[in-house]
Formats: sequence, C-alpha cells, structure tokens
Amino acid sequence: MRKLPRILVVEDERSIAELIAVNLRHNGFEPTIVFDGASAQLEVDNKLPDMILLDWMLPGESGAALARRWRKSERTKTVPIIMLTARSDESDKVQGLDAGADDYITKPFSTQELLARIRALLRRRAPETTKDSVQVAELALDAETYRVTYKARELKLGPTEFKLLHYLMKHAERVHSRSTLLDKVWGDHVFIEERTVDVHVKRLRESLGEAAVMVETVRGAGYRLTAPSMARNPDQGQQTSMA
Ligand code: CA
Repeated sequence: MRKLPRILVVEDERSIAELIAVNLRHNGFEPTIVFDGASAQLEVDNKLPDMILLDWMLPGESGAALARRWRKSERTKTVPIIMLTARSDESDKVQGLDAGADDYITKPFSTQELLARIRALLRRRAPETTKDSVQVAELALDAETYRVTYKARELKLGPTEFKLLHYLMKHAERVHSRSTLLDKVWGDHVFIEERTVDVHVKRLRESLGEAAVMVETVRGAGYRLTAPSMARNPDQGQQTSMA
C-alpha cells in the first residue's frame, strides 16, 4: 500500500482541528492533530511530517515563532508549512510568509481550498522535478543532496526558495514574469497571488547573502538570475544599465 502523506495539524481550536483531520483522512492523508506548540514540537521530534498546517494564534508559542524555529533547524527546514490565519490583512500574510511559511490560508476556508493548497504544495516538492544539479558562476545547487553553496560555503534555503532558485538557475540570464514563475515553481497557483512571488524572492535574497545581487528585479517584467559580474543592484534592474 502506498504511504499516505503525513500532515501535522497544529490548531488550538479543537472543533476546527478535528474538522480538518476528518477531511484530510477522507482525502487520502494521514493527519495528526495537536493543540499547542509544545506538543507540536514533540510530534515533529518524534516523526517528521510531510507537511505542517500551522495556526497563527496559539496559546504559548505563536505559530510564527514555531515556523521560524522549524525553518532554522536542519531537521525541519524543508518541511512545507501552510499557515492558518484568522487575519486577512495583507501585512499579516506577508509576516506569515516571512516567518517561513510556504503558503497561508485565511479562516474561514473551504475544504476544497485547503486540499487544493496542500496538493499544490506537495506537488511543488515532488522529487522528479528537482534531481539535477546546476551551477552559475560560484553559485551551485545540488538537487540530489538539497545543498546550495556560494563560493563553497553552504547556504540555508526553505523549500520554496530552493525550488525558485533551482528554476532561475536552470534558466539563467533570462527574464521570468511573476506569472511564469507561479506556473513553473508553484505549479498550481489558482489561489496564490503574484505578490507571493515577491515575498519569496525577498526571502531568497536574504538566504543568498553575498550572492543576492545575482537575483535581479527587472522592472515591469519580472526576475532574472545572472552571473555576479553581470549583476546590477537587485532593486534597480534594467534601469541602472541605461543610466
Ligand atoms: Ca488559534
């Protein structure tokens, strides 16, 4: 029998947690529910899930704090996280993504929307799409071992940033629109706004450190990865070259 994807649901409102679990079970997932951050950490330490649905507002440690910690840890940094939030404010969504979530969903949400996002995120991690290795100047990405190095120093990237960088490196020196990147990197972007691309590009640049200049913003067009000698200021894009 095929192994069912394990999904850890961290949600202190028990009725919501149980409703999510029932729906996940009906749709071919293996959910585990916990009601606070400490239990979530124990569960993660015990058995690594394939995905985490994480409530923003939890008693004790917040969802954002947990997401940040899991992103930093070697063991959990590649586990996809969907933030569940009652907040619909744009800045709160961005905060959730900044904390390390790969996606967010605002309560109240439909089961169909939640399932679509879970499937999209799992597809995004599908191993067949990322097995090769690629190098641009001194930036190297090995999809087999999930390592990114710049000048032989290892960089830490979240799962979405990894896939985004992989795509940009495989198609370096070309400009990609936000909508192309959503298609190629996110796969199923029916619920994802183009702004999400900008948030992940920002996170990617932060993870790249010195190599961040290689990811250029091309005003009005999108993003391009380019070798450092060719790189201009990441926030200036093409306009600088005309100055
Ligand atoms: Ca809550």
